[in-house]
Amino acid sequence: MRTFITTLPARLGCQSVGPAPMPPVQHVRVIGGLAECPGCGLYQHVPELQPGQLAACPRCGQHLQRRRRTAPVAAPLAFCISSAAFYLAALASSLMTLNVYGRERTVDLLTGPMELMHEGWGEAGVLVGAVTIMAPAVAIALMFAILYAGTRPTLPNWAPAILIWYEKLRPWSMVEVYILGIFVAYTKLTDMAHVDVGPAVYLIGGLMLTMAVTDSTLDTERIWKHRRVDSLARLEDGEAVPVEYVHVGDVGMPPVERLVACPSCGLVGEMEHPVSNLHCVGACPRCGHSVWRRAPQSLTRTTAYLIAAVTFYIPANLYPVMTFMRMGGGGGHTIIEGALELWSDGMIPLSLLVFFASITVPMLKIVSLATMVAMTWRGARQGLVRRTRLFRLVDMVGRWSMIDVFMISILVAVVRFNAMATVTANAGMVAFAAVVVLTLLAAWSFDPRIMWDAAGMNGTLVDGLPRAVLTAHDGDTTQGPSGPASTKSAATPRPANMEPNQA
Ligand SMILES: [Zn+2]
Ligand SMILES: [Zn+2]
Repeated sequence: MRTFITTLPARLGCQSVGPAPMPPVQHVRVIGGLAECPGCGLYQHVPELQPGQLAACPRCGQHLQRRRRTAPVAAPLAFCISSAAFYLAALASSLMTLNVYGRERTVDLLTGPMELMHEGWGEAGVLVGAVTIMAPAVAIALMFAILYAGTRPTLPNWAPAILIWYEKLRPWSMVEVYILGIFVAYTKLTDMAHVDVGPAVYLIGGLMLTMAVTDSTLDTERIWKHRRVDSLARLEDGEAVPVEYVHVGDVGMPPVERLVACPSCGLVGEMEHPVSNLHCVGACPRCGHSVWRRAPQSLTRTTAYLIAAVTFYIPANLYPVMTFMRMGGGGGHTIIEGALELWSDGMIPLSLLVFFASITVPMLKIVSLATMVAMTWRGARQGLVRRTRLFRLVDMVGRWSMIDVFMISILVAVVRFNAMATVTANAGMVAFAAVVVLTLLAAWSFDPRIMWDAAGMNGTLVDGLPRAVLTAHDGDTTQGPSGPASTKSAATPRPANMEPNQA
């Protein structure tokens, strides 16, 4: 008897581009022991990892899977509970108290976004509130749900959607960047007045650490393996076809052009016909996510976001981001003037940090993504590994540009002493925040695998099936990329819970 998928809609929300993509499909094969590198698109054998082992792509070095030594649910749960405690305490405590000639003003986490909204910079206020207050709360709540699901014998039906949402939302939680924003704001304030740092600053520091440790102890791959693979897969047209489970060690490597990997849980499926990059093939039988060979319209979307980012980049650097009025004097500051002022005050490391985060990073992102897009259009083969690594770097550092926006939100909240001292936000800040958000979206919509596709590197594998490079905790490489793995010797015991559910 087969279990029928009841949780999926008839049409999956995957909108294919162009005419009907594929001839009729009779069944789908799920291939265990196989993974596609999300950095370069190379299909490779990844054996069952031992605790403390890391599997990386032999071609581009992207980390594919990591098996933690810590308890899979208990360790992240402990840190998640601490995160919730830190978060609630930070929300209830004061962030900073400023004393200007005997007049005091105390602010908390909410004051910055509220003041920005009152001043008419609603979009910036909503952005700061969303990434420093809402996103961490939702991320912690989703993590609790995921860990609760992880304690069940099989992953419940609602759990995959929660895990997918968590992965989408987590980059928007910018607590660690906010801490630096507080630090820069504090440094700017100390030379004009007496500043008392409130308990919220330490609590946010704790929250930053516990959220990072929760992520690093969470073993998503292990959680996914708790989830049964459904015996029916829903195709794009809503039709359900049977799923057959095989292991790459038993059947060998299928033709690459028929393979497709789930963008969310990484499950690899083989279709009966070659799969186009432009079309959604259906829903993943393990997590229900729409399955595309490549992120849809990646090049077009990245190009559009980049053009928009360049448009905002000019006013973001020409117009002042904030105005500092003190005893009737003072005036507007642009981003670069803010960094130069820190330098002239003798705070050279901080000035370099602001310069790097606010000027170098957005520029680096725009230039390197534009280069990647142009080289992909041209089908260039040069520097593919370097470009893939650069993409990972760009993806990682992009959020740090928010330092200046956070710093301004704190100054606007705390320096409100009418004629004595007042900080107001200016249009440049909104343009700058738009640059940061647009470059983040540009990086997230770019699929680095298309660079390798365009260079003709993802065709049929002539040397057999490559193997992932396994590294132990002490850094020893236990399996090198040298030579293809014989598919028989690559066979590893099949995890029982990866079997399709044939109830
Ligand atoms: Zn790779
Ligand atoms: Zn999936």
